[in-house]
Amino acid sequence: MSPRAASPLKDDRSTKRSKTATPTPQDMLPDKIAEIVSGGDGILVLNGMAAAPATSIGLRVSTHALSLASPVFGDEIARHKPPQPNADATTSETIISLPGEDADAMLLLCHILHLQNDKLPTRIAPSLLLRLGALARKYECVVAAGRATVYWFDNLYFADDPGNIWEIIEAAYLWDEAIFFARFTSMWVLRQLMNSKGIAAATTIETQKLAWVLSERLGTVQSDVRNEIDNLIETCAFTFSKGASHYIDYAAGLSPTTSETPSGKSTHCVVDAEGAKDYLGAIRDAGIWPSTCWSWFDEGADKHITVGELVEKIKVFREPPYDDCDRCAGCFYVKENFTEELERVQEKHAKRLWGQCLDCYKAGGTEQGECRYQHAK
Ligand SMILES: [Zn+2]
Ligand SMILES: [Zn+2]
Repeated sequence: MSPRAASPLKDDRSTKRSKTATPTPQDMLPDKIAEIVSGGDGILVLNGMAAAPATSIGLRVSTHALSLASPVFGDEIARHKPPQPNADATTSETIISLPGEDADAMLLLCHILHLQNDKLPTRIAPSLLLRLGALARKYECVVAAGRATVYWFDNLYFADDPGNIWEIIEAAYLWDEAIFFARFTSMWVLRQLMNSKGIAAATTIETQKLAWVLSERLGTVQSDVRNEIDNLIETCAFTFSKGASHYIDYAAGLSPTTSETPSGKSTHCVVDAEGAKDYLGAIRDAGIWPSTCWSWFDEGADKHITVGELVEKIKVFREPPYDDCDRCAGCFYVKENFTEELERVQEKHAKRLWGQCLDCYKAGGTEQGECRYQHAK
C-alpha cells in the first residue's frame, strides 16, 4: 500500500483537504490512468495490477454509471464528491482510493458497468472470474454485471482444459449463474474417482457449505451408480438361484411325475441361464462390472475409473444378441428383464443432473417453483 493511498476512502474530511496541509486529492493521483470512459468525472485509484504491481493505476470512470449499477459505489461516490460550486478546488473529479481492491478484477468490472464490452478479453482464467464475482458481490452489482460473464463461462465449459473446475463453480455461485453452475458441478462430479471421496476446498466463506453439499452429492451419485449396476446384474444372477431353477415347461420348485416322463429323464431348462451368462460376460468385457475392474495397474501406477468414465461405458453398452426362442412356460424371461433394466438405467442417466441445481441448492433442498436449469426433480 502506498502511503498516499492510505485510508481516504474512510475519511469524510478528504474532500476538504485542498484547504489544509494534509494530502490533496491531487496527491492521491495514480502513476497511470486507464480511460474506462474518456471525460469521466471520477477516478478510482488502485494499487498495481498483476502485470505491473509497483505502478498504481487510476481508472477514469463515470460516477453516474457506477452509481446506477452499484449502490455501494453510489455511497462511496456521494461521500467523495467535491463540494459544488468549488472555485478553490484543485480538481472537480471525484477521486476514490481503493488500495485494498483487486486492480485486475476492478478494471474488468468497470468495463462491464460502462458497457464497454468490446474491451473485455475473450477468455479469462477461473481464478479471475472468481475474484471478479467476489468483487461484484461486494459492490452489489451482480445483476447489473452478470450477463457479461456468460461467454467466459461458456468458453471455459467448451475448453479442452478449463482449469480449476471448483473455482469456476464458486464463481458461478457468486455470479448466481444457474446454467453454468449446474454444468460445472456436473463436470466436477463426473471427473471424480468412482472409489474415493472427492472433497472440494472452498476458497471463500460463502462457498464452504457448497463444498460440503457437493461432496455429499458425489457420494449419492457413486452409490446410485453402484446400485443401478447391481440391479442390472441381479436380472442375470437370479437365473442361477434355486428359486429360478426349473424343468422345461415346469414352474420352479415343481418336477415332472414319472407318468409325464416315462423315460425317467427330466430336463432342466437352461434358456435363462445361458442368456444370463452372455450378458454377465458382456458387462465384464465392457469394464462395467464387477467393481474390481474399476482399478488397474498401468505404467507403474494404480489407475482408477472416474464416475464419468463408468457412466460413459454404461451409455455405450449394447447388449449382446441372444435368441431366447426356446424359452419355456417356466422361464423368467432374462432377456426381457435385462433389456428393460438396461434401458431404464441408460434413460435415467441421459436425463440425470449429475451435479447440483443452484435454485434447489439455494432453497436448501428441492426448489418448489421452476428452476432456471431444467432438470428432473
Ligand atoms: Zn425355461
Ligand atoms: Zn432445481
